[in-house]
Amino acid sequence: MLASRLPGLLPPLGDEEALEVTALHSVAGILQEGLVRRRPFRAPHHTVSAGGLLGAGDPPRPGEVSLAHEGVLFLDELPEFPRSALEGLRQPLEDGAIRISRARSAATFPARSLLLGAMNPCPCGWFGFRVKGRTCNCTLDRVKSYRARVSGPMLDRIDLHAAVEPVPIAALMNEAATAESTATVRARVLAARALQRERFLRGETSAPINARLTPGDLRRVARPRKEVRELLQATMEQGKLSARVYHKLLRVARTMADLEGKTAVEWLHLSNATGFRVLDRPVDAEAA
Ligand SMILES: [Zn+2]
Repeated sequence: MLASRLPGLLPPLGDEEALEVTALHSVAGILQEGLVRRRPFRAPHHTVSAGGLLGAGDPPRPGEVSLAHEGVLFLDELPEFPRSALEGLRQPLEDGAIRISRARSAATFPARSLLLGAMNPCPCGWFGFRVKGRTCNCTLDRVKSYRARVSGPMLDRIDLHAAVEPVPIAALMNEAATAESTATVRARVLAARALQRERFLRGETSAPINARLTPGDLRRVARPRKEVRELLQATMEQGKLSARVYHKLLRVARTMADLEGKTAVEWLHLSNATGFRVLDRPVDAEAA
């Protein structure tokens, strides 16, 4: 349910984006309306083939990653997807496009989708949760081999990893009283996006959204002040944070600052960003 709400939090498609999405859906033969104005939400089942996910055929047809272009690609039960399909996603996630070459023809399809994955913490589903009457009965080795189905390089390409605790029934019933509405959250997202676009128009960055900022951009617009940099460096040296995800953390921290309308990236933004790297932590540490 959360996943399907995500496209609703994003700004509406621009004219050029709408044309691209419409063309892709038309090529794939799934176009149902005139011009597609809603951001796509694609949720292929984990039995999908690598070709179905990435694109296939001769002449080539776009796969799910391209049908989700400018929208959301949701992969539920992430570790259950064929390894070849997941690994094949790495290149389009990086480049925003995918090239399909066949004997008689080749095509490049746009594939700039927001990837959202969901997985259990272990095969039985209860590892790490403190819920009365429920305990994980998986061995540590089983948990590790389950997690390893999603490779490290793949996890590196995912900006945020969050643990979602089971929701108690009582909280579900009170949802209306406590939860923010989609409209409220959306307004905050649009305001943050507007700040990103302004920086781009002022020539401070090379992309209108934080997800596409280069290391050079980040030095200009996401560089924390000296004390915060020193704190970050100390944290990295203690091994609590890998250098590998450094730029990713800066992008996420910049976005957190934007969501608060703050100009500078503060320590709180960075430490919150590191909190969203749960799958980088070793399973043994989590069990302890
Ligand atoms: Zn388990």
